Amino acid sequence: MCEFCVKHGEGEKWYLQARNYSDDLLSDIRRRRFIEEFVSDTDGLVRANKRLEMLGKAPRLIRSVVGRIVTGRMKKNHFGQVVPIEDIEKIFGFVNSIVRISCICRRVTLGKEKRYCYAVSLGPNGGGLAEIMRGVDNSFINGPDAAENELLTRDEAMAAFREHEREGLCHSVWTFQTPFIAAICNCDRSDCLAMRTTVTHALPVMFRAEYVAEIAPQACSGCRSCLSVCQFGAISYSASNKKAVIDQRWCYGCGVCRSVCKTKAIRLEERARVPVAGKLW
Ligand code: SF4
Ligand code: SF4
Repeated sequence: MCEFCVKHGEGEKWYLQARNYSDDLLSDIRRRRFIEEFVSDTDGLVRANKRLEMLGKAPRLIRSVVGRIVTGRMKKNHFGQVVPIEDIEKIFGFVNSIVRISCICRRVTLGKEKRYCYAVSLGPNGGGLAEIMRGVDNSFINGPDAAENELLTRDEAMAAFREHEREGLCHSVWTFQTPFIAAICNCDRSDCLAMRTTVTHALPVMFRAEYVAEIAPQACSGCRSCLSVCQFGAISYSASNKKAVIDQRWCYGCGVCRSVCKTKAIRLEERARVPVAGKLW
């Protein structure tokens, strides 16, 4: 299990602990301010993105030192974890409101609204988070190019997540001053700043999932559908065996490959049970 499970989940999956979503945590004034600034400061994200591109050109030693500092700071403030769809369904089972909102990353990287983020809360009608969002005067949230935030039922939210998975997007939970979890996003490596930072620039701001994918070779038809959807480069094709092969050292456990496999050859295994990946986060 990841260090957040140890610190914030009492040895269980930390993102399945209802207390980590509670409005009680939102009563902390510093956390409320952090969220207000985060959702209103898209310019800050633009600047962070530019700094990241510059860091990519710096000598390795500087990248390594700065990377450790950034990861440590993000673990305290805004850190994510990849979560497969069955655990998303468990989260939707105990939260009391799910609100679809615009993705702040896509606003920066694409310059337009993409409704890939979901605010989750134990409170009704968006809980304390919706209250904060309503108080933020920001064109991104309230502007003419942003549709109204939508309150979804669990079934509607699950249908939307299945559609996101069909699009090849990887689900992830996000803290707003850890361990408070306020949002679940649907990420891809090209447009999501967190995935770019973690995977492309090797500067972790999100954990891998608590799972790793495995292929049952006898069930694999060699169709290669899974190869094109893995955003982490973990799957290759063995021409001699005519089967797909997963390098579990690179697998983030998102389960997106599983959803495109027509022969159901792919399953997710608990990361802790997979020796080569059990300590890779
Ligand atoms: S999608 Fe399934 S059947 Fe096709 S190559 Fe991948 S594991 Fe094999
Ligand atoms: S191999 Fe499958 S589960 Fe692992 S990262 Fe790639 S798409 Fe996700």
